[in-house]
Parts: sequence; C-alpha cells; structure tokens
Amino acid sequence: MSHQHLESLDVDSIREEFPILERTFDVASETQRADGDAGDDGQQLVYLDNAATTQTPDPVIDAMSDYYRGYNANVHRGIHHLSQEASIAYEEAHDRVAEFIGADGREEIVFTKNTTEAENLVAYSWGLNELGPGDEVVLTEMEHHASLVTWQQIGKRTGADVKYVQITDEGRLDMDHAREIITDDTAMVSAVHVSNTLGTVNPVSELVDIAHDHGALTFIDGAQAVPNRSVDVEAIGADFYAFSGHKMAGPTGIGALYGKKGLLEAMDPYLYGGDMITKVTYEDATWNELPWKFEAGTPQIAEAVGLVAAIDWLEEIGMDRIAAHEEELARYAYEQLDAEPDVEIYGPEPGPDRAGLVGFNLENVHAHDLASIMNDHAVAIRAGDHCTQPLHDKLGVAASARASFYVYNTKEEVDKLVAAIDDARQLFR
Ligand code: PLP
Repeated sequence: MSHQHLESLDVDSIREEFPILERTFDVASETQRADGDAGDDGQQLVYLDNAATTQTPDPVIDAMSDYYRGYNANVHRGIHHLSQEASIAYEEAHDRVAEFIGADGREEIVFTKNTTEAENLVAYSWGLNELGPGDEVVLTEMEHHASLVTWQQIGKRTGADVKYVQITDEGRLDMDHAREIITDDTAMVSAVHVSNTLGTVNPVSELVDIAHDHGALTFIDGAQAVPNRSVDVEAIGADFYAFSGHKMAGPTGIGALYGKKGLLEAMDPYLYGGDMITKVTYEDATWNELPWKFEAGTPQIAEAVGLVAAIDWLEEIGMDRIAAHEEELARYAYEQLDAEPDVEIYGPEPGPDRAGLVGFNLENVHAHDLASIMNDHAVAIRAGDHCTQPLHDKLGVAASARASFYVYNTKEEVDKLVAAIDDARQLFR
C-alpha cells in the first residue's frame, strides 16, 4: 500500500514537535532472548496507546511553561497585573473551547478534571435530584466505566432503572433496540460518541433525537471523538457532552463539560467552596453565574492555557485531515491484522463509522503477554479491559489488546506492530 496520502499531512514535521517520540529503548525480543541474543540497541518508541493518553507537542508544553514563567497567579480574585492576565487567559479558554465544539459561549463550558468528572457532575447534580423510582436511564453496552459505573450508582441511590442498548455482532449500536427501550419512562440517555474498545463511531444525533422524542435528556461521552474529528454539539443536539484534554494533545488534569445553558442554570452545584458563590452568610449562600457556579476552588489554570494551545495546534492541522489520517491508519492496521488467521478483531470493519483504534486478540496469547512482547519491540499498546468490563464479558474475553493511533503515527509503525505479533506467535507456538 502507498504511504503517499499520509505524507500529505506532513507527519515528519508533526513528529518534530514531539521530542518524546524520539525516545529509544534497549530491547531484546523474546525470540532474541531465547536465542541468547542481547537484542537491539536503541529501538525507537512506537507509541500506539493514544486512546489512553496522547503525547503533547512543544507548543502546548511551551504555552504552559510561558504561563508559569510569565503570568502565574490565582484567577478571579486579584487586582494585580498577574492575576488579571491569568484570569483573562483562564476565562477566555472557556470561549475557545465553546467555539471549538460549537457551543453558544463560555456559560455552556465547565472545566472539569476529565470526562469522568464531567459524568459525575451531571449524575450527582442532575441525576440525584431528578431521578426516582419508575425513571429509567438508558446506556449502551459499549459504555466506558466512566458513565456505566456512575449511572449505575446513581440508579441504586435514586431507585431509577438502568437499561442498555445492545450491540450487534459487528459491534454497532442496535438502533432498533434503542427505539424499543427508550420510552416515556426514560429520563436520561448516556452514550459514547466513539467506543474506546470497538472503535465504533455511534450515530449520536439519531440517538439524541430518539431520546428527545420521549422527553429524555442526553449525555454524550466524547472522550474518543473530540480528539480526532470535528464535533459540533449543537448539530448533535446533545444536552450534555464531555471530553478530556489529555487525549487530544493537551495536558492531563483538565476536561470539559458542555451543557445547555438552561439546564446548567437549573442544576445545583456539584462542588462547594470558594469562587462558585456570590454571597455567603453564616446561614446560607447564593451561587455565582455560569460557568463559575460549577468550578469551586482554584481551577486548572495552566492546564486551561495548555488546552487552548492544543486546540489551536489541532485546528491548524485541521480536524478533518486528522480524522482522515486516523481512518487510513486504522484501515491499514485492520487489513494487516485481518490477514492473520489467528487474530480476532473487535468492532466494525473500516469505514466512516470506525475510528482510529483497533482492539484485537491473538489466539492462545493473553493480551497482557502480547503487550509485554510488544514492549520488547518498544511498541506501546494497551492490554486489559479498557474500562469496559461488561463489554468484554459480552465479547466472551477477559481482556483485549488495543492499538490506537494519532496524528503522528505512520504505516511503518503499524508494520512494527504486526512484526511484533509474529514474534509473539513464534514464542507461544
Ligand atoms: N470515556 C471514554 C470513551 C474513554 O475512552 C475514556 C478514557 O479512557 C473516558 C471516558 C475517561 O476519560 P478520563 O479518564 O480522562 O476521565
């Protein structure tokens, strides 16, 4: 297969902005070890664990270091120059995120620690108050624990039932089943936009329409979507939408919750403390305006600055080009792996509803052993349940291996992944 199209993205110069990708490791493959061979010096890192966390380009690191070197101060409260500069940067970061995902403005963007905290914010603040016996929360069988465990617990506390939209044999949502179980009793539908295990890109706006037809609210988990495709929350129509900075070339410690203004206004705060109040007496308190009502205490200021730099960096490359690059790499990896008779791949075939990750298992080799052999080749992949234990139960496996791609990955790196699988096969034969 030609590598031409990917080069049109200029992956080489993109990679130059990620010094970490230059790291090398002295490694010996298992077969080399078995042959008494000391192995290879300086194998270059092949980083294929991007669905867990992406690497951070220099402009993002620089933006955060500029903040600490130049205008580090607490926000919202200072009269002095530094605090004013930090406050402006922090507040405007909300505007930038709003613009990036098509929200109306900063009132609709709450910074959280990550996607998980955004799920918990809505589950606690909205769910605990609004749900009760007779209500139903509809999830999907491919939910990440971030939403699955959260709504399960809120269900137990409120008496609301939790139901799951089934997946088809190909790893897509069974939309007929969705239409069957989303009823007038449904109060909330929470679904992943892109599955972190199957790679499926779900028809989320269709799901949102079904939910709204029954008067239910919707929460879309965009942790695996915002990093690699153009997302417009208003076009999707979701009531809530969430994502994490560390999966999109940004820093750890920051994520965002989008919520429709009217809903956020009606909700109680999730965390209490400084900054989220307007007036406090010994008896009571009133709440600050959006989004600060949901951002108690000193927030992630450097991380917000880093997130903006990441968004600028991604948009300069172009979200559509990033999506095309990932789709092409996923297709290439899928085809290579599919050609191996003893490799089982999970999720739909390559196409517009398959994102840039491939979950798989090699017959007779535990995913952890496979990942360890990959590590002997300096190939970093994920192995385990990927925070989707019930989905793995459904697939009939305890764990899977997952290679996930980002804008800096190449087809040559996919070839190294496949070569490492050959090594594992020889070792376990
Ligand atoms: N949802 C999905 C689909 C994910 O892949 C992840 C991360 O693995 C999460 C939620 C949780 O993200 P975080 O750990 O940043 O909260």
